[in-house]
Amino acid sequence: MNLLIVGGVAGGASAAARARRLSEDAHIVLFERGPDVSFANCGLPYYLGGEIAERDKLLVVTPDRLRRRFNLDLRVRTSVEAIDQAAKKVRARDLVSGREYEETYDKLILAPGAAPLRPPLPGIDLPGIFTLRNLQDVDRIKERLDGGIRQAVVIGAGFIGLELVENFVRQGIAITVVELQDQVLPPFDKEMTTPIAQELAGKGVSLLLGQSAEAFEPGPDALTVRLKSGQRLPAQLVVLGVGVRPENKLAVEAGLEVGPRGGIRVNEHLQTSNPDIYAVGDAIEVKDFVMGEPTQVPLAGPANRQGRIAADHIFGRAARYRGTQGTAIVRVFDRTAAMTGASEKVLKRSNRPYRKVYVHPTHHAGYYPGAEAMTLKLLFDPQTGRVLGAQAVGGAGVDKRIDVLAVAIQAGMTVFDLEEMELAYSPQYGSAKDPINMAGFVAGGLLRGDHPQVNVEQFLAAPASERPFLLDVRMPQEFAKGHIPGAVNIPVDDLRSHLGELPNDREIAAYCQVGQRGYLATRILRQTGFSAVNVGGGYKTYQLLVPNNDRVR
Ligand code: FAD
Repeated sequence: MNLLIVGGVAGGASAAARARRLSEDAHIVLFERGPDVSFANCGLPYYLGGEIAERDKLLVVTPDRLRRRFNLDLRVRTSVEAIDQAAKKVRARDLVSGREYEETYDKLILAPGAAPLRPPLPGIDLPGIFTLRNLQDVDRIKERLDGGIRQAVVIGAGFIGLELVENFVRQGIAITVVELQDQVLPPFDKEMTTPIAQELAGKGVSLLLGQSAEAFEPGPDALTVRLKSGQRLPAQLVVLGVGVRPENKLAVEAGLEVGPRGGIRVNEHLQTSNPDIYAVGDAIEVKDFVMGEPTQVPLAGPANRQGRIAADHIFGRAARYRGTQGTAIVRVFDRTAAMTGASEKVLKRSNRPYRKVYVHPTHHAGYYPGAEAMTLKLLFDPQTGRVLGAQAVGGAGVDKRIDVLAVAIQAGMTVFDLEEMELAYSPQYGSAKDPINMAGFVAGGLLRGDHPQVNVEQFLAAPASERPFLLDVRMPQEFAKGHIPGAVNIPVDDLRSHLGELPNDREIAAYCQVGQRGYLATRILRQTGFSAVNVGGGYKTYQLLVPNNDRVR
């Protein structure tokens, strides 16, 4: 077996190592355009910020180690320039000597990744404007940082952009973030990013949402970023984090099928339109695990697993890729945001029916010191209760909950299964009713009809004359600190003796801080003849949805 692999990082190196474990006889050639293989792309921002102190730590495996341990014919600084499908050969170019040569294959795996987008704006090629993909990029940015930077502009508030922001701020650089969307972290639902935007603002980051760069100009102080709004931002360093596009040139020129957004089309075995050519990683179109539709998700976990699956299939195993859920996590200073499965905006866009709940638990028992707050949003099918997606933002414990929910989604579990989940508990780690169980209880109660809810945005969207009677069941001091406009305050503990003050010809929407006392109030009211619903997720959810509202004080 002559196996050629194009791209020697996440997908390509995984495929090569797995292939060798399955076959000592195969001749495996791994082509990599750059000087490094199997490096830690995901660690690059933390090297810039100094958290990873040594550059060498980013080299997960050196070319030499890869050659010796896996007996690979490893060709770094070698670019594959063309594929001849009919003759089953590729044309490679040694980037050092310039020599071009051909290599034949029985099977070919394409793992060329995705390249950062560089929008064709005036001045985009001026010195000082960078993208970040590999160690050479990081060296260039580091050199610029070492020259002394006071102000930097990061364009794009996605995962990589915000990781860079954190690391630049740690070095005392004043940062402005310019983001086209009206929120940070665009894959998340907007309200879930409110705490992240607040965290950034709290660290002194200037966040320009709903804005875009129009041009870059050389200025007296290195560079000026001109925005469409007319605003001009001086900077000695600009980093673009506006997304990536699949490196599909080889595939397109060879006549392999690609999807509308450029991802190389593959089947469940990761074979392209030519069954002897496989493709993996950021360069491919994948099936969205929840939605079932083709999508592109540039993440390291899927790329690594796909490399392994492609090698398995090549060596005769019935390996299949199930699809990508988009499970992702990012730390932004002291906050963590994580998600898995479908977001609410994706569900809405596809007209897929869903329900949602929010819970705001602490990551472990509240009585044990150090409990950190989180918000967990759960999206599920209104008929079956199947979990469709989840997002969480907070501090410690966000990772664990999203990982549990990622497993639940993959296993096709429902909110009723979440109610039953038995998770590790002692007060340092969780609660006897874990946040996952709590989300299950709330969602299960909703579907069973025990716990009818109205969403904050449904409530706010209704004309004032059609809104339910709004009842705040928190303590007066909580109410005084801020409440939803128009609410009447009767603490839940006093509710039974004040029922006569409530209308019985109108629906009552009860709310508290996070939803729990609102739920109890709803149960009291419904059992005493009132029509009542709970405002899902309470005042905390309202604060996420209406962060700069006219909260009454
Ligand atoms: P790559 O890792 O990009 O490797 C492709 C390689 O192919 C490249 O080295 C390229 O030089 C080579 N190549 C391309 N064309 C040719 C050719 N014609 N001939 C020879 N070689 C070629 N993902 C996460 O899940 N979590 C994270 O925290 C995370 N953080 C990230 C941070 C940064 C700064 C970056 C850049 C990415 C991050 N990612 C993260 C994304 C993750 O790194 C990618 O999803 C993953 O590396 C994709 O693997 P891949 O093998 O498809 O492509």
